Amino acid sequence: MFDRLRKFMYGRYGSDQLNTALVVAAVALSFVNIFARSLVIYIIQLVIMAFAVYRMFSRRIQTRLRENKAFLSVWEKIKLFFVRIKNRFKDRKTHVYMKCPTCKAQLRLQRIKGEHGVKCPKCGAEFRVKI
Ligand SMILES: [Zn+2]
Repeated sequence: MFDRLRKFMYGRYGSDQLNTALVVAAVALSFVNIFARSLVIYIIQLVIMAFAVYRMFSRRIQTRLRENKAFLSVWEKIKLFFVRIKNRFKDRKTHVYMKCPTCKAQLRLQRIKGEHGVKCPKCGAEFRVKI
C-alpha cells in the first residue's frame, strides 16, 4: 500500500508551506460557511482545495518551488507587520514611534517628555520632536 503510494508520488511535488496555507484557508472557509451558507464561499473553497491537490501531484517542481518562494516572501512581510504591531504595543509606555521627515524611516524614540533634537540613524537628518 505505502509502496504503491510512494511509486505514485515519485517525481511529484508533494506538500509545502503554500499547500498547508491553502488547506488551512479552505478549512477556515468551511467553518465560515457553517454560518454563512454561501454557494460562492463553497465554490471558492473547492477551487482552493483543487489547487492544493493539483500542486501536490504536479510534476512541474520548479514552478511549484517558485510559487512557494513567492508565497513565503509575502508571508514574511505579513508576519513582520504583525510583529511590529505587537512590539509597538508592548513598549507603548517607554517609547514612541515616528517617521523621519526626510527619508520616512520608522524611528523608535524613548518617551521622554519635552522637546528634543533627533538625528535619524539612516539618513543623518536632524530634526526636533515634541513628546
Ligand atoms: Zn531619515
